[in-house]
Order: sequence, then structure tokens, then C-alpha cells
Amino acid sequence: MELARLPTPLQHLPRASERWGRGHRLWIKRDDLTGCTLSGNKVRKLEYILAHARDNGFDTLITCGGLQSNHCRATAFAGAQLGIPVHLVLRGQPSGSSQGNLLLDHLAGAVVSCYDTREYIEGRDQLLAHWQQHYAEQGRNALVIPTGGSDGLGVWGYLEATRELDQDRAAAGIERAQVVCATGSGGTQAGLTLGSALFGLPLDIWGVNVCDDAHYFHEKVAQDVGDWQQRYGQQAPPLDVRVLDGYVGEGYAKASPEVFALIAELARLEGVLLDPVYTAKAFNGMVQEIEQGRFDGCRDIIFLHTGGIFGVFPQSDGFNL
Ligand SMILES: *Cc1c(COP(=O)(O)O)cnc(C)c1O
Repeated sequence: MELARLPTPLQHLPRASERWGRGHRLWIKRDDLTGCTLSGNKVRKLEYILAHARDNGFDTLITCGGLQSNHCRATAFAGAQLGIPVHLVLRGQPSGSSQGNLLLDHLAGAVVSCYDTREYIEGRDQLLAHWQQHYAEQGRNALVIPTGGSDGLGVWGYLEATRELDQDRAAAGIERAQVVCATGSGGTQAGLTLGSALFGLPLDIWGVNVCDDAHYFHEKVAQDVGDWQQRYGQQAPPLDVRVLDGYVGEGYAKASPEVFALIAELARLEGVLLDPVYTAKAFNGMVQEIEQGRFDGCRDIIFLHTGGIFGVFPQSDGFNL
């Protein structure tokens, strides 16, 4: 199913390369341009998830995430585009008027249920099952999509994206690339890592975790790939899972002044906008790892811009402007 505008551009960042590279060429893969309201990395997963929903007679979508979840907003818009009702189960209570992604969820006509953080963390699966049952009683068949669309089904999105990335690589005259992305629910990293191994591509995949820790992402990638193997009767080759841990800061969705400053600096230097929840934390991790010599001897580094633009606005106070 075609929801994303593909292929997205691979863009060279000459001034950022000069500023942060140690002889590297820095590139950015613009997956923030998969669409406008339907933008970011979740769209590539939703193409497969919604095709599955359509082919298997699901008439309603239920998914979950934080109050400002990009995945939930993307699902709300994908559902609206296809005429499928969407119900979002969100972590946290809004204060004041709806902003950012939450505002867009409402505009796209999603039904939104917000829960206190504690209740959500302790009972998320029961809440999802409750709403699924609620729709079943009305004779409807609701598909529950996991956090971030990350499971064996969502893995297809970035598994397929590795072919596109490899074509970009070849067209740009890059021999081997270090690919760096933010990792949150693990599905993007799982798909890229699996695709690179499966097709034997000269792409080394690095996830910068924006929550949890390296251990969690090693397990989560294995779990998503395991689910993919089981669902599709496939055998995955050995995976090279690489996590750059240490850049979460105070916690998920909490960015340091350094991260806000980096957003402003990259916007000025290259006209590229990052977000404080995912991409700027990952870009910061990449920059720091470059400085520490992690990528010495590698010429080309591709940063995967996974989107998240609407996360900038609810945190505008962080910029001190
Ligand atoms: C969800 C998200 C990520 C993380 O992707 P996962 O597949 O959940 O690990 C990165 N960046 C943005 C902007 C996101 O919305």
C-alpha cells in the first residue's frame, strides 16, 4: 500500500561535515519527507501494517503511545486517508489546549483516550484489549498495532528501505556507509539491521537510543526479527546490532540545553530541522561519537532523519527565544 512519498532524498551536508566531521562526509536521508502530516519513519511501517489490516478484514485501528506520539499521529492520518476509524490510547493527560501531534490526532478525527502515566504503564495491554473487546461487541474487528508499529509486520518498512538506501549510496558514490538513526521502539533499527544483513549491503546500522538502554534494544531487535521469522517462515542471518548508548539524558522526551542548541545550529547551517525527542538526541549522539573517534577511518556517515517535526512546537520554551 502506498502511503509514503518514496524514494526520499539523500542529501549531502557540506557545512555540517566541516563543522563536525573528522574528514567524514555527512549525509542525511530525508525520511522526514515521507509526507506532510503523514510524515516520518512510521509511514514506512504503516504501509505494511495497513495493507495487512485491509487484506485481513480489520475495520478499525487501535494503537498506543505517549501524548505526543508521532506514531499515533501518523496512524490517525493514515486511517483518515483510507477511511478506517482510529482509536488512540495515550500515556499522560493533556494540560491546556491540545498541541503538536495531539492536536493533529484530533483534527484527523481519531478517538483519543488518555490515561495517567502509571495506569498506562501498568495496564497498557489490558487497556488495548479492553478497547478491542469494546469494538468486538459492536460487531467491529479492530487491529491492535503495538507501540511504534514495531513488530514482525512493521519490520518490513525498514527492511525494504535498505534497498532504497543502498541505491542512494551507490548513486552518491559512497562505498560503505555508517547509518545512524534514533531508536525508540526498535522497529526501524530492526528493519535496517535485518535488511543490511539479508541483502549483504555495505551499510553498518547504528541506533542511538532515546529511552531505555543498549541491553533493551539488543533484545527488542531480536524480538521483532524473531516475530518476523515466525510470521513469514523466514530465516534471518546473524545480526550485527549496534547501539550507541549514553545520549538519553534526563529521560525520554527530555532534552538538554545542548540538544536544543544543536537543533538551532543545524537549522542555521543546513536548513534542516530536527526534533528534541528523537532526531536531535540521535544527531547529538552521532556528533559526540565522531568526536570520540568512533567513526575514524570511515568516510561516509548517513544520518537517517526519522521525522518528528511536530514535536518541536510543544517544546518551544526549550529554545530560549
Ligand atoms: C518513532 C520515532 C523514532 C524511533 O523509531 P522506532 O522504530 O520506534 O525505534 C525515531 N524518530 C522519530 C521522529 C520517531 O517518531
